[in-house]
Amino acid sequence: MPPNPLFLMTTRKKIIAGNWKMNKTSAEGVTLAQDVVAAVGKQSDVEVIVCPPFTAIEAVGKALEGSNVKLGAQNMHHEASGAFTGEVSAPMLRAIFATHVILGHSERRTYFGETDASVNKKLLAALKNQLKPIFCIGETLAEREAGSTLKVVQTQVEKGLEGVSKEQAPTVVVAYEPVWAIGTGKVATTEQAQEVHAFIRGLLVKLFGDAAAQKVRILYGGSMKPSNAPELLAQKDIDGGLIGGAALEARSFVELVTAAAAVK
Ligand code: PEP
Repeated sequence: MPPNPLFLMTTRKKIIAGNWKMNKTSAEGVTLAQDVVAAVGKQSDVEVIVCPPFTAIEAVGKALEGSNVKLGAQNMHHEASGAFTGEVSAPMLRAIFATHVILGHSERRTYFGETDASVNKKLLAALKNQLKPIFCIGETLAEREAGSTLKVVQTQVEKGLEGVSKEQAPTVVVAYEPVWAIGTGKVATTEQAQEVHAFIRGLLVKLFGDAAAQKVRILYGGSMKPSNAPELLAQKDIDGGLIGGAALEARSFVELVTAAAAVK
C-alpha cells in the first residue's frame, strides 16, 4: 500500500509564549503565573511558556509547579560561569527548571549590542544545556521599506543557527518579530507574516532537511492580541506567538492560548 500522506504530515503543537520584559516584581509575577495556571495550567493542546525577568523567575517557577505551563528566561550568557558581572548562564537557568530561553530579541540587539554572532554563541550554549532557544529574528521598518526583509531574515537565520545539527534543529523555536510591529500596535498583515514564515521554513529545509524543518515551530511576534491572533494563527506556517504587552495580563494571555487551541 502507498503511504497515506496524512500520516506523513507533521502536526506542530502551537506555542503561546509570554515575554514579560522588564515588568513585574516577584510578587506580581507569582500572581500573574497563578492566574495563568488556574485558567490554562491543565490543558495540553497548546504549549504555554512564561518568561519573567530574572528576579521573578525562581518564584514564578515554583508557582508553575505541577502545571503544564513552562518557564523561560529572556536572555543568558554563552559561558557556563565566570567573571561576567550581571550575567546568568544556561546551567543556572536549568538549575531552577527553566526549559526555554529567549535569545536575540530585537531589544537585546538594539539596546545591548547583540549581534548574529553573539546570539549564535548563546544559542549553541543553550542547546548544549538542554534549554530550548526561542530564537528571535526580524527586520526593521527601514529594512522592510528598502525591500530587504527576506535578505535580512536569511542572514539572521543562517548566522544565528550556524553549527546547529539536524538533530538539534527541532528543539529550536524561531520567533519572527518584525521590529516595527513590536510594542507599536502595528501588526503585520497575515499575508506579510505568512510570506516570511514560509520563507523561513524554506531556509530551515535547506539547512536541516525537510523532516527536521517541518518540526520547527515558527512563532509570530509583534502586537499580537486576542483580536488579531485567530487570523495570524490560522496561517500554515505560523505555529504560535511570542507575546509582549498582551502577556502582562492573565485575561488577554489566556485568550491567546484559547485562540491557539481553537485553530484546527
Ligand atoms: C515582544 O517583545 O516579543 C513582543 C512581541 O512584544 P509586543 O507583543 O508587545 O509587540
